[in-house]
Amino acid sequence: MKFWQRAQNAGFKIPELPTESRERTFPDTNCVILDGKLVASLIADQCKELGKGRKQPKLAAILAGEDPASQVYVGSKGKSFANVGFASETILIPSSEASSDKLIETIEKLNADVSVSGILLQLPLPNKMDEAAITARIKREKDVDGFLAANMGLLAIGNFKDTFLACTPFGVMVLLAAYGINPAGKNMVVVGRSNIVGKPMALLGISADSTVTVAHSRTKNLPEICRNADILIAAVGKRALITKEFVKPGSVVIDVGIHRDENGKISGDVAADVRYIASALTPVPGGVGPLTIAMLTMNTALAAWN
Ligand code: NAP
Repeated sequence: MKFWQRAQNAGFKIPELPTESRERTFPDTNCVILDGKLVASLIADQCKELGKGRKQPKLAAILAGEDPASQVYVGSKGKSFANVGFASETILIPSSEASSDKLIETIEKLNADVSVSGILLQLPLPNKMDEAAITARIKREKDVDGFLAANMGLLAIGNFKDTFLACTPFGVMVLLAAYGINPAGKNMVVVGRSNIVGKPMALLGISADSTVTVAHSRTKNLPEICRNADILIAAVGKRALITKEFVKPGSVVIDVGIHRDENGKISGDVAADVRYIASALTPVPGGVGPLTIAMLTMNTALAAWN
């Protein structure tokens, strides 16, 4: 498995799931629950175990402005790091002080700090700052989000020993592997072409020998294209867009979307009726979300160790 090369070099293994977990289905269906929360916890266990006697990985998160969702994300990342014995610090920059110069100066300091293994610049940035230009100042070797052009480029040319993979698609690949779903020779349809999910997901699919189709908002006949998928990955950001009419019977469906309604209930891009058609599906919550944080933890370990 090419995508796993760097992790393997540091001693990580694809998590092995107990048979009863691999066979657990959504109620009244034959559709297997792809339990991202479980796989994430097994990755966390490995981070803890492999960390013994090694340099302590440390994440520095820069949180500029007062976006409430960003505060929640950065807080939960900090907890996950503490749980595995890794260090993390958050550098808070109020929006009144947040300028490009200030952020670049902060990044440069963290680039030079040998105790910091990974740097995370929480997006969105306030004050209409140029996010791409500021993110680009992070040292490639500390880009544990895998967002830099240099790391995306290494992924594109298949250099898996040096790149950092973007955490969400990396998590999807680990989930498929943990459930024994081999993408080789399968039709993979990725709905969404963002730089952080859709594009790296498509590149990872290609590297795993899938035949990949990428769909987006200008795609014609989306249901028909999706019905061609053996592995359908929804990273659209539109609640319940993917209904059973988009799904080939027996296919594997991965729901990357996260939507919170007015009561705080979380759901995804995939509608509830898909579980009656698919052979396996990620739940939301408890699917791809926890894996994204687990892969950030692992990437920070990889930055510290190899
Ligand atoms: P994004 O940057 O908004 O990209 C959405 C993509 O979906 C775009 O490529 C867009 O096409 C496409 N799209 C939008 N409407 C469409 C439609 N009706 N039909 C077909 N394609 C359509 O979003 P993102 O950052 O990739 O995130 C996608 C979703 O995943 C969001 O719900 C986000 O919250 C979630 N997410 C979850 C995690 C996690 O850890 N689980 C991590 C990251 C993101 P165009 O390019 O043509 O505009």
